[in-house]
Amino acid sequence: MTTQFEIQGLKSSIEGKEILKGIDLKIKGGEVHAIMGPNGTGKSTLASALMGHPKYEVTDGSVTLNGEDVLEMAVDERARAGLFLAMQYPSEITGVTNADFLRSAINARRGEGNEISLIKFVRQMEGKMKELEMNPEFMHRYLNEGFSGGEKKRNEILQMMLLEPKLVILDEIDSGLDIDALRIVAEGVNAMRSEDRGFLIITHYQRLLNYITPDYVHVMMQGRIVKSGGPELAQRLEAEGYDWVKEELGIVDETVGQA
Ligand code: ADP
Ligand code: MG
Repeated sequence: MTTQFEIQGLKSSIEGKEILKGIDLKIKGGEVHAIMGPNGTGKSTLASALMGHPKYEVTDGSVTLNGEDVLEMAVDERARAGLFLAMQYPSEITGVTNADFLRSAINARRGEGNEISLIKFVRQMEGKMKELEMNPEFMHRYLNEGFSGGEKKRNEILQMMLLEPKLVILDEIDSGLDIDALRIVAEGVNAMRSEDRGFLIITHYQRLLNYITPDYVHVMMQGRIVKSGGPELAQRLEAEGYDWVKEELGIVDETVGQA
């Protein structure tokens, strides 16, 4: 069965303040959708709401993955169902090694009775780390502790590769990456593109989309998707910035939720 992810009329509030004002988006397996937009327009809020972050209350709308109600699921159930989020600011967890964390996450995704063997896990992790040109010592380091910005981002991609999710959300995976790291991360993502996996790539800059060609590009402002198009839309945003979109739509302040 090919993946079908559908967001309809999604509204979300933080501390009683409405940030998402009705998001509609349909992502099929094999498709890469990019969400672009200036800072403060609700992009990360969308990612957090989809993953079920407790701070982000969903007040309206529906989200389904292959017909299953995502909003009904607890955070761990969403991960098990195949949702994956690479966060803009990954957390550091002292006392839990990267390998321990990853193995637990993989086993949670695979379910009881179907756990991965230690040997197989180590072999897979080593192989993927090599592809991402990560130093093997990162296997035994505490999760994200003392990792540079770029190392954290590579580590998020490592998690994605090992978890084999159905719907991948990457929130500003390109921030903090130099050009070599960007290329390596993009190659990792491209290698994961497949008919039964959809991608939602959130980015401020078009640069990443030179390496990962999206099928659809959406512009977010004021907590809504205000414009959609193909890859050429990202190129125009790179060349001309966001002002022309604001002018075209009569938007003065593109941000949402500011006091
Ligand atoms: P973007 O990712 O597009 O830069 P965000 O979704 O991070 O935008 O933020 C949109 C708005 O929501 C901002 O006004 C921001 O201050 C507010 N916001 C986001 N997360 C939180 C939070 N955890 N607590 C309070 N306000 C938040
Ligand atoms: Mg953000």
